[in-house]
Amino acid sequence: MNWATLEKVQPIASKILTNSVKKNRIAHAYLIQGLRGTGKLEIATLLTQTIFCPNKQGVEPCGVCQVCKRVESKNHPDVHWIEKDGQSIKNEQIDYLRKEFSYSSLESTRKIYIIDDAQTLTNQAANRLLKFLEEPLIETTAILLTDNVQAIIPTIRSRCQLIDLKPLDTEVLQEKMMEANLSKQQSRLMSAITYNIDEAIELSENETYQEIINISVGMIETIINDYDKRYIYLHQNWLSKITDRTETDYGLELLLLGFKDILYMQLGKKESLVFFNHTDQILRSGVEHFSKAKLLKIMSELLQTKQKLKQNVNPTLLMEQFVLQL
Ligand SMILES: [Zn+2]
Repeated sequence: MNWATLEKVQPIASKILTNSVKKNRIAHAYLIQGLRGTGKLEIATLLTQTIFCPNKQGVEPCGVCQVCKRVESKNHPDVHWIEKDGQSIKNEQIDYLRKEFSYSSLESTRKIYIIDDAQTLTNQAANRLLKFLEEPLIETTAILLTDNVQAIIPTIRSRCQLIDLKPLDTEVLQEKMMEANLSKQQSRLMSAITYNIDEAIELSENETYQEIINISVGMIETIINDYDKRYIYLHQNWLSKITDRTETDYGLELLLLGFKDILYMQLGKKESLVFFNHTDQILRSGVEHFSKAKLLKIMSELLQTKQKLKQNVNPTLLMEQFVLQL
């Protein structure tokens, strides 16, 4: 990614950041907020390359020199990446960062640290980070990345320049996916699942994930046409293939999109379909079969099931509960 390509998808973020480079006014701390797939890590990498690259053309880093490559592979001695350790970013990680930064830099006078998933900082770690933000030892730029800015303590937020990434426009996204050789139908579905083109390509080429789509269609079909067999279908088809948390979450997301499509079709919004084709028989049966209230109830249960999945409840148990209470 470079600034020119970023400008097309995130014009505001791109403008703020390139202006600060042009005017040589890099902030002490940035807080980049955006949903999964909006390119937070890529932007942090690009900004860091821009600051360090010796062969910049205007604001664009060359992308090929030793420095750019070391930044990209997370091996640059003056760039520190902090990622969550298990569920959170812990005290020791911030202590380590402070220690590292107390040694003077050999390659440059500036150091950058990038904290991914900053919303997972424990309270203590956040308070230590706050002290660090207040008393930088050398010229330092902090880049905090998050999908939920509200989960960052206000005292940290107020010390950062907020860069708010917008969700991509669905049509632009679908076009980009089709340019990357996804079919129209794949692009429609993937644009509802991820903003990240690489992830969309990966999912479309992954056989397991393709199979999960079929199993999800089968589940919806069973609920409509063979309601009493839904529990058997779950065990024979779903649970025999979809085992881990990530796959279960993907399956639930597909079910959600499927039921949403049925609701869209009832509302006459054919153009909003992402999971089904408007000619699909299952979609038509679903439109006849469910009341709006029932569809909303199913969708709300799917959301709750997804939430519980995040809280470490066993996926098999969750799926059993879901189909039984339908
Ligand atoms: Zn370079």
